[in-house]
Amino acid sequence: MNTESALRDSIVEVGRRLYARGYLAGADGNVSARLGARRLLVTPSGVCKGFMKPADLVVTDMSGGPVSGNGAPSSELKMHLLIYAARPDVAAVVHAHPPVVTGYAAAGLKPDSPVIAEAILTLGKIALAPYGTPGTAEVTDGMRAFVNDCDAILMANHGAVTCGADVEKALFKMETLEHIAEINLVTEVLGRKSEIAGGNLKKLLALRAALAKKTAAPPDGPGRLASLIADTIAEVLSEHERRK
Ligand SMILES: [Zn+2]
Repeated sequence: MNTESALRDSIVEVGRRLYARGYLAGADGNVSARLGARRLLVTPSGVCKGFMKPADLVVTDMSGGPVSGNGAPSSELKMHLLIYAARPDVAAVVHAHPPVVTGYAAAGLKPDSPVIAEAILTLGKIALAPYGTPGTAEVTDGMRAFVNDCDAILMANHGAVTCGADVEKALFKMETLEHIAEINLVTEVLGRKSEIAGGNLKKLLALRAALAKKTAAPPDGPGRLASLIADTIAEVLSEHERRK
């Protein structure tokens, strides 16, 4: 299989899903992925990400300089470059404007109350970077303090950026981010919030740390990953019981 061709297809599919979910309007947003050690595959500027073709994608070097492709690379590529430079573990970055989480960012808030166990496991810490004019160094200056520790960063009065080990994982994190923003918003509307607290929260954080350590080496497939998660949950829970 042609790896570049498969990666182009994945980015096109992620753009389609972001647009279909209403996370992007018009030509907003951008997606990129590492193409080997020294190049990136990037969505073009000024094109609706819901209707891209694989040939529309642009290849750049690791400084954002164009290598091949007809269009101009995304004007917001700088935030992607910042993440790739800081995070060798990251192979893909997604930037979008999902309305609920972007609403939180516009309100100067993070939807990070510990109300959903899966969100804590998947996403970890959520950051809120200060506002910067899109396309300028102000954006990356604001994000710099968070890129090492966070896979999901809100940008005040702008949107969100997520990253992961592949394009689909980066998309899933964007979906989880918007999903927990929606759930947090419902708890705000209801005026009640039952947070995961104390020992239960510690157990989840320990589980996330243990999983991150174990999955640093790529598992051999979905079955292997499922059994790894089950084993890790059992280990963390028995350790927690022992310490009680
Ligand atoms: Zn944007």
